[in-house]
Amino acid sequence: MKKVILSITALALILTIFLVIMKMEYGKIADKTGGKTQVSAETETTNESVEEADDSSKGPQPHQYPEYTPDQVTKPEGPAIATDELAVLAASENDTAGAGESTDGETLSGTAGMVSAHGLDFYRVSRNQIGILWSEDTDPEVVSYTIYRCSVVNNVGAGDWVKLATVNSDGVNGGSKNAYIDVLSDTKPVQYGYGVLATLKDGSTYTSAGIETIVASNIRVCIDPGHFAGRNTVDGQYRYCEGKFSLVIAGELGKRLHAYGISCSYTRTGPTIAIGGYANEELDGYHIKLRGQYAAVDGCDLFISLHTNSNQDNAHGYPTFSQPKSINHPLVIVNTLACNNQTALNVANSIGINLVNANYKANLSTVTNYASAAVGQVPGWDNNINDSLNVNGMTLCRLNNSGKDYYGVLKGATEVGIPGMIVEHGFHSVPEVRYAAMQGGLAGIWADADAYGIAYGFGFVDKISY
Ligand SMILES: [Zn+2]
Repeated sequence: MKKVILSITALALILTIFLVIMKMEYGKIADKTGGKTQVSAETETTNESVEEADDSSKGPQPHQYPEYTPDQVTKPEGPAIATDELAVLAASENDTAGAGESTDGETLSGTAGMVSAHGLDFYRVSRNQIGILWSEDTDPEVVSYTIYRCSVVNNVGAGDWVKLATVNSDGVNGGSKNAYIDVLSDTKPVQYGYGVLATLKDGSTYTSAGIETIVASNIRVCIDPGHFAGRNTVDGQYRYCEGKFSLVIAGELGKRLHAYGISCSYTRTGPTIAIGGYANEELDGYHIKLRGQYAAVDGCDLFISLHTNSNQDNAHGYPTFSQPKSINHPLVIVNTLACNNQTALNVANSIGINLVNANYKANLSTVTNYASAAVGQVPGWDNNINDSLNVNGMTLCRLNNSGKDYYGVLKGATEVGIPGMIVEHGFHSVPEVRYAAMQGGLAGIWADADAYGIAYGFGFVDKISY
């Protein structure tokens, strides 16, 4: 297998070129949709009847959702997370036959003069390139770093550690992280475990505090936190804002995908959104396609737009935002590309099944069934699906009169060739749902379902539900 080793200087150069290319791609997308005659006027919010301005002037909120601010250094990987969360593999390798040993007889738990590198991270470069990063602050004491890889099954290390390459230390503490690009033999979705051992100039300088390993894959997902802060608010009992909560879900989802070794790109990482010279309301209406098209900027494998649902005013004779729990069913609306893509439908079906289970278990819904969809047989939309009580959740595809994606955000992803979906996790018109959101645990519960579904779709876990 061909291996590419990059010096830190070369990596910096390549990153610079990459950023320039990203800007060029970004410009292309903006150009594609700049002409107003080319852009769909359809908006995504047909079923979300609340369209209010920013609520910041309406007095203190009973609950402030934590703002999601990713670590700039690791962008586009999303939030920085603790190394114990990264080390999924390390936590389980002792239970797995063969894991922890390299093929040449060295143990990865340390040999004389060798210790684990630390600060491991990853980024999906392309479908056949996985970048592994680690801290350079040990460089002055290190002669070289050796990169190891092992198979991963169901997110757990399996099989022998294989030595990939040895990279010389530059001896200097400073600059960007050390990096190694693992070039894969093909582009099929794959997870690997990685570890890096340092050969010290003086073996007594460090004692290893344990081997740090990470799981990394060749998959990148574009996460679109729906709307923007202030959009779709509910005042009164259990105040709620969909445009804020979608960002909280996004942060939780990014952390969980990172633990599956999946890289993430984001249409926004703060309360506002700006793409291609447009912002906020423009990207929630006339120019919403740009969100879906953004998935192409980093060459993402999947686009997922995160939402919570609502209903027609005073549906079923209940006040609009005092709906019964029986209305609460998840909907996963896939784009036309995903309708014929088994991987994307596996993602959608698994997310939906796990959301039904999660909402029921959290006592936020009476619904226990989910209707999965098969390739070429994805049901279309009818207006009863959204508001009905005691109906199952479902995967569906909503088309306009021209047979194209009804929702502009999904049409944008289709136009750049990327399977995509809107996930309506639950109904914020149900007071119990808003209360759970205020309590702080709901975003994580929903993100568990989203992340697991994505991992299932790409074959990284083998059961459709957990
Ligand atoms: Zn929405």
